[in-house]
Amino acid sequence: MLGIGKIELNESNFTVENQYHKKAILSAAKSADLLNKPTSNIAFISQYKSVINGANQTLEAQAKDGLPDGVEIWDYKIAKWKKNEYITEAVKTGASGPVKDNPLLFLFLTFGLAIIGGLLYILPKFREHEGIKNNGIYHDSLTKGIKSPIRTVYLLGTIVGVLIFGFFKLQDIFWPLVTFLLGLLITYLVFFRENSKDHNPQRSASPDKSGILGIIAGTYMLVFYVLLYWAPAYIDNWVTMVSPVSEMLSGNGASRWFLYGMMYTCIVIVMGIRMMTKYQHNTYQKIRTLSVMFFQTAFAFLIPEILVRLNKPWFDFKNFWPLDYDFFYSYNIKELSSSGSLGLFMLIWGIIGIIIIIPLMTYFMGKRWYCSWVCGCGGLAETLGDPWRQLSDKSMRAWKYERYIIHGVLALAIIMTLFVLFHAFTGTSSILGLEVEGIKSWYGFFIGAGFSGVVGTGFYPLMGNRMWCRFGCPLAAYLGLVQKFKSKFRITTNGGQCISCGNCSTYCEMGIDVRAYAQKGQDIVRSSCVGCGVCSAVCPRGVLRLENGSDDISTRTDAMRTIHITEDQIFFNNVEEMV
Ligand code: SF4
Ligand code: SF4
Repeated sequence: MLGIGKIELNESNFTVENQYHKKAILSAAKSADLLNKPTSNIAFISQYKSVINGANQTLEAQAKDGLPDGVEIWDYKIAKWKKNEYITEAVKTGASGPVKDNPLLFLFLTFGLAIIGGLLYILPKFREHEGIKNNGIYHDSLTKGIKSPIRTVYLLGTIVGVLIFGFFKLQDIFWPLVTFLLGLLITYLVFFRENSKDHNPQRSASPDKSGILGIIAGTYMLVFYVLLYWAPAYIDNWVTMVSPVSEMLSGNGASRWFLYGMMYTCIVIVMGIRMMTKYQHNTYQKIRTLSVMFFQTAFAFLIPEILVRLNKPWFDFKNFWPLDYDFFYSYNIKELSSSGSLGLFMLIWGIIGIIIIIPLMTYFMGKRWYCSWVCGCGGLAETLGDPWRQLSDKSMRAWKYERYIIHGVLALAIIMTLFVLFHAFTGTSSILGLEVEGIKSWYGFFIGAGFSGVVGTGFYPLMGNRMWCRFGCPLAAYLGLVQKFKSKFRITTNGGQCISCGNCSTYCEMGIDVRAYAQKGQDIVRSSCVGCGVCSAVCPRGVLRLENGSDDISTRTDAMRTIHITEDQIFFNNVEEMV
């Protein structure tokens, strides 16, 4: 659908409000012969880009001769982000063609057929026998993963691509330098640490295989995210197609974020049903999957759109800082605090969530209450990502990097937010020589879009489904710290029953070597464990049990009706006996 239709720019559909910009762009478009001339989508975007650049050069030249009274330079010139906005807007208003004329037909041909096709494939699986169903997973071209060198090329290619783009996008000296150093560090880690003494050959579940369907799926998702974040003008047809649904819900036409939200929700629902067929022997999995489907549909998709219809701010009640990294940005605080009592409630809810709800719930239930039952990223990973959960890297090396990277991102999120708050309270735009705006756009670009979207989801078929949750999510890092140091959650193991089959380790999406704990009969208390329970669901011997027990193991034995044996005592139903 990307190239279907034509775009025509004329004075009547020209929506630029800034009078200086409007005049300069119209005049440049006239000289480039772009006005009143239907042009194909892709050609229009590239020509209109040059038109806006030309207009900007004219404005810059005029600004040198003096600005009109009361006009600031940043209002006179066309800012970089404004250029993208103008292009997307021109494509939207000037579009004509089959998608614009029949959005519902195209919605049916894409979303509709994909959903029907998915369900036709999935629903008959409810008739299959219950039990562990991971047969053939390493023989399927879609799920067997890719060879480690190809994986490295992909990862490096993607990261370097994002870095180079960031280098040119964030045009000042400091951030390109940070980007460059980051690029060097990643290159060093990927290429040179590879052969160091720390290298453990057990790096991925399938080091000697490559599945072409997995590579295609990963590439498709990478390209989708790149278009969504950085080239939205090209996907206008997709946005147009979902506009009728957006109008029905919020009363407004769709944006690319609506498209993303709708697609996300449909995928979580359809693949959630698949998840329930696969784990139909396990009640925990069924209820948990229903939970992520509900939270995605209601809290992340429907409620925010209905709020907009009621003239309230778009707000996702389950998305907390630091995952919601712009929560403390001044525009968000202003919008919420000026939206009456509901806006104020949203603001207070967000803060209470960070300070009270998250630590308290994590104390009682571990991070699973959020990562595996509520979160949208976790929901997508557990549903769409389930076929690739076995590809997570189980090596000690991956565990080590995981701790550095995820806590590094948490530290970055905290520093960035402190800068934002300092700027909001004092009005100082530069702190310790760093521009607050620069830090914000750097974080949004690399972490908010590059890591969580492009790498986080695009790498499902290449490196497993919890890439973002394991290595990048700052909220997971916060939850993990509470889980590790002060939580009742743990996975207990009945070591005597373990037959060392390794199912649990294989299907742990967070790369935890569960079998190693089971063999020793040791409780699993790991900050990264998202409590998905799949290790327990695939264990043929019932060795693993997810518990929210007492901190004290002796009291816990009573509550959980288990026996705990120490060197010289047995604790059973709170009775302590000497042996
Ligand atoms: S240890 Fe088990 S419950 Fe925890 S993340 Fe791994 S598979 Fe899920
Ligand atoms: S705990 Fe269960 S799944 Fe894991 S190795 Fe032992 S028997 Fe296999």
